[in-house]
Amino acid sequence: MKFIQKGVEPSNLSAWKIKQGDKIPTWKSFRRTVVKDQLLEILLQEQGYICCYCGVAIDKGSCHIEHFKPQGTDETARFDYFNLMVSCQGEDETQPKIPVHCGHKKDNWYDENLLVSPLRENCTEFFRYSAAGEILPTQEVSKKLAAETTIENLALNIPKLQRMRQAAIDAELELLADDDFNEDEIRNIIKDYLELDDDGRYKPFCATIIYFLENFYL
Ligand SMILES: [Zn+2]
Repeated sequence: MKFIQKGVEPSNLSAWKIKQGDKIPTWKSFRRTVVKDQLLEILLQEQGYICCYCGVAIDKGSCHIEHFKPQGTDETARFDYFNLMVSCQGEDETQPKIPVHCGHKKDNWYDENLLVSPLRENCTEFFRYSAAGEILPTQEVSKKLAAETTIENLALNIPKLQRMRQAAIDAELELLADDDFNEDEIRNIIKDYLELDDDGRYKPFCATIIYFLENFYL
């Protein structure tokens, strides 16, 4: 999980909300609007085109707008920009998504204390990773239960995601094996993973790779 720095609410979303008056429209009616398309693009840019939970690469068509606090539980959360992110797996829920993880797996589950938010600046501190691509809870007592519960309820440790993370780790290890990198060079590699590339994208699973480099190469 990577920290998401939210920007300001897009002006066209604000204008659209004002136009609706006191009534909170359904998400279904919003889904067909141009404002929704523009919002999706802005959220993708904000996240550097990676899933808010697992970090896999996403694009229009392979993701959906995710309500961190489910809109079913709290109607006012439906169009709250600071509650909206982009999760992997598409919008079309008529097709079974197997295996389901991240936003679709989370569904209407929400627990203020046990769901780790990507909007928390220290969200990366909740998780560890193994060389086999597993995501593990931190051993830090105050964060462990939330980490465990989030991993479980979002199915972040399923074999599919483990394999993808392992492939990302292996690719980085292969690059590191080519040379003898000193500490400054490793720090520069980490910096690269922390920054958007020229296309405005983060590298998939960058939080996992950064964890690896910081814990095993520094
Ligand atoms: Zn995901």
